[in-house]
Amino acid sequence: MLNNPLFRKVNTTARGVHHDFGGRSADARNTKAEIHSEELRGTMHGKQRRGLDYTPLFRFLLSKVGSEWDAVFSEAVARLDRPEPIFWLVALHEHERQDVVRVGESTYYSGLYVDAEGSLRKVNPELGPEQLTPSCTCCTHTFNGVRFGTRGPGIRRRRTAARA
Ligand SMILES: [Zn+2]
Repeated sequence: MLNNPLFRKVNTTARGVHHDFGGRSADARNTKAEIHSEELRGTMHGKQRRGLDYTPLFRFLLSKVGSEWDAVFSEAVARLDRPEPIFWLVALHEHERQDVVRVGESTYYSGLYVDAEGSLRKVNPELGPEQLTPSCTCCTHTFNGVRFGTRGPGIRRRRTAARA
């Protein structure tokens, strides 16, 4: 048993991502709320091991931006079941650096890297949730834990004026 782990166990009996259900049947509609529940979000993506949620790790890494990477890495490894999820966010090589990393169906975080001085950095520190566009309109999208893409009323307006 790890002390103060950076991951959580997720109880889930759901299978697949809701977008793979086809989305047109009545059944898919009825289970939408369940599938979209907070606990299930982000657990179905290929990058994530079923039943484990690494949100605490991602929050930990973001909180350590600017810190010495060696110490951050040592602490993270000691609090994880395996080191791989660290490198979903932290790019080891320059060509792997990404502004945004997607870790769940609609869960995004800042891409991170280690600079020449050995400090953890964001690849694009200017990027905020307001600059992101959601991939669908049915899920709650988050960037570094902050919701984005919430649609306000009146975005789509239909032209109804008839011409004589
Ligand atoms: Zn969706």
